[in-house]
Amino acid sequence: MKRLITLFFAAIMFSACQQQAPVEVLATTSVMADAARQILPEEIQVVALMQSNIDPHSYKPVESDVAKLNSATIVLHNGLHLEGKMTDILEKVGRSKPVYAMSSALKQNDLIEVGPNVHDPHIWFDLNLWARCVEGLGGFLALQYPDYREGIIANTERYAAELRAAHADFATALMDVSDSNRAMVTAHDAFSYFGRAFAIEVKGLQGVSTAAEFGVNDMRSTAEFIIERELTTVFTETSVNSKSIEALKEAVEQKGGEVKLGEPLFSDALGEQGTPEATLIGAFKYNTTQILNSLK
Ligand SMILES: [Zn+2]
Repeated sequence: MKRLITLFFAAIMFSACQQQAPVEVLATTSVMADAARQILPEEIQVVALMQSNIDPHSYKPVESDVAKLNSATIVLHNGLHLEGKMTDILEKVGRSKPVYAMSSALKQNDLIEVGPNVHDPHIWFDLNLWARCVEGLGGFLALQYPDYREGIIANTERYAAELRAAHADFATALMDVSDSNRAMVTAHDAFSYFGRAFAIEVKGLQGVSTAAEFGVNDMRSTAEFIIERELTTVFTETSVNSKSIEALKEAVEQKGGEVKLGEPLFSDALGEQGTPEATLIGAFKYNTTQILNSLK
């Protein structure tokens, strides 16, 4: 009998674990989740739909994601088609609850155009630009959670100032690097806003979306760029398969050049929870340390 009772309770516990607790604020990627965590009080739970190492361009929501999207009070996303395979579901969810796009705080002329009416979505490593997105988010969340309004506004101001300070610190560190040495190559075009902000010429082997294929010409022109600019390092990214960059290294060597693979940069996803790189500022500091070492 005792055993039966134990089994009965174990079954109840198991079924309770199977049921997902409702999510308060659901963000598509870790970058968006970090922004919300920095400015919301701790008691408001923020969850990222995509974990570390996940590529948002090709991510298709699974059944449990749809359940999370449906149960969340608020949904945050980047916009500008970063979450390319989630456009329909975000629009559908937006009919019944607030769905906020971080990029909505920016104006058309803040954005890098990559095609007719198509804009580069990777706005977060220009920390000055992202600080404005965070201020927009703060205004939105203050309206959604009026009981916490004052704290949200204070946190938003503090965090936006921290972002701008980290940006200024890297600009100062870069002063030792001559204009002609400011160039870098990564797996996909995630660093164009970063490059524009710091006058670094950035080339990605793949386009702004990892969903786009790259061809022989892209491989050849990128290899030539590395040799011409005498780059010592090419960077893989944590959320992108490194095979393409390994092939690029071989292409450089076939042309008589030499280049090494740098530590993977954080681009579309931040680091694992519990590491310094789980925050945008932590990931930015990590990336810029690697990049600075490669440029000197
Ligand atoms: Zn990307």
